[in-house]
Amino acid sequence: MRVAVVGGGMAGLAAAHELAAGGAEVVLLEGSDRVGGKLRLGEVGGITLDLGAESVLARRPEGLDLIHAVGLDDRVVHPATITASIWTHGALRSMPPTVMGVPADADALAASGIALMPEPRILPVPDEDVSVADFVTARLGRDVLDRLVEPLLGGVYAGHTDQLSLRATTPQIAALGEDLVSAAAEHRAASDSTGPVFAGLVGGVGQLPAAVVAAHDVEVRLSSTVRSITRAGDGWRLSVGPTTDVETLDVDAVVVATPAPAAARLLAEEAPDAAFALAAIDYASMAIITFVFDDAVVPDGSGFLVPPVDGTFIKAATVSSNKWGWVGDTGRTVIRTSVGRAGETTLLQHDDGELGRRALVDLREALGTLPDPADQVVQRWGGGLPQYDVGHLDRVETVERSVEGVRGLEVCGAAYRGVGIPAVIASGRAAARRLLDAGMIES
Ligand SMILES: Cc1cc2nc3c(=O)[nH]c(=O)nc-3n(C[C@H](O)[C@H](O)[C@H](O)COP(=O)(O)OP(=O)(O)OC[C@H]3O[C@@H](n4cnc5c(N)ncnc54)[C@H](O)[C@@H]3O)c2cc1C
Repeated sequence: MRVAVVGGGMAGLAAAHELAAGGAEVVLLEGSDRVGGKLRLGEVGGITLDLGAESVLARRPEGLDLIHAVGLDDRVVHPATITASIWTHGALRSMPPTVMGVPADADALAASGIALMPEPRILPVPDEDVSVADFVTARLGRDVLDRLVEPLLGGVYAGHTDQLSLRATTPQIAALGEDLVSAAAEHRAASDSTGPVFAGLVGGVGQLPAAVVAAHDVEVRLSSTVRSITRAGDGWRLSVGPTTDVETLDVDAVVVATPAPAAARLLAEEAPDAAFALAAIDYASMAIITFVFDDAVVPDGSGFLVPPVDGTFIKAATVSSNKWGWVGDTGRTVIRTSVGRAGETTLLQHDDGELGRRALVDLREALGTLPDPADQVVQRWGGGLPQYDVGHLDRVETVERSVEGVRGLEVCGAAYRGVGIPAVIASGRAAARRLLDAGMIES
């Protein structure tokens, strides 16, 4: 049986990996000229670094499992420091313990000078989905939302808490129940002893895509944008390639592992309800600006987040040379900053030079004197992160129901139930397993 996987990001790669291991003949069709999607390596100042995703949540198994399965075990590392700060009220302030921004220690929050929290209100968790902003503000006040929860979620989703769904983006906060701060304290006490939260790879997590491809006999076709998917007998016919030179490919089953806009177009004919729901998922564009400095002196810690209410250009900075031992070992100072949130279309219209200049102004203000960088690279991520707005999980259920009724068709990726690397790997594997379990593939 022949299966086409459309999209060579981590979701598509994980699906291809699982299908190949299950005995399927896999053709992976990737529209761009490389696999990896939001994982990408690039050179800055002579050092090969991650220019997209850079760490993997270690408290879910799927990321590390795949790393293990493709033989990259010996490169797994954990951050040398996870002490992060919030840059607000004119200073870098150590982040107090929180659960996704919900303070776990009111005294530590007060001492940090980050946000003022009124006496927390004990309120029931609503059954219906609400925005993160509505939920947190009603219980802990606007300052906690603006200066703790918003920057943390901004880092993960590049979104706005007044639109982001509580159920889809911060189920951990909903799960804290009525008494948020007490439950956050208990949660932290229980989880502080359970090992490292994040992992990376010496040389960058951007090595993972190529390792997955190398692990199996998967046919990878690059620069192969899939334009349409239609029924052909019991199987599927895909139109692939540039509009001037479209080829057809006949397969028995298809896994669509693209971001939502492309998935919506591809499913329009065969799963219109899914296509309609997918078309409603918005995306945030952003850029990662990476600087390499010689002879810079920077504070300890992994970096800082910035509350959008403070009106800065950058929304976060990671001091990679503090965070990752292998980067620090180069003897240079490496700082990656991120800019751009959902709806901020004009910001990214600046050219690379201007983005770099403005990011550097913020860095110097936050960190103190910095020399001119030896090198800098701007990596733009147009349509980088899906926005799980209020009602997102209902949209996902609509997609899943619609696709479930179509034999030999599956979807996976960051648009659905989690944007992190382990979550998209899980969704790719699950899509593959459904095909394998349905007997689509003789193994
Ligand atoms: C800047 C940035 C930093 C991040 N940092 C982290 C991090 O540190 N840790 C973490 O866990 N997560 C991080 N994330 C999130 C995570 O990396 C992504 O959500 C995840 O990698 C997405 O994987 P995916 O396979 O669903 O989609 P993608 O990576 O978007 O891959 C989809 C692929 O489909 C291809 N494609 C699209 N349309 C077609 C078509 N019609 N035909 C063929 N191919 C097509 C695209 O070219 C792309 O390669 C980050 C995201 C961004 C943007």
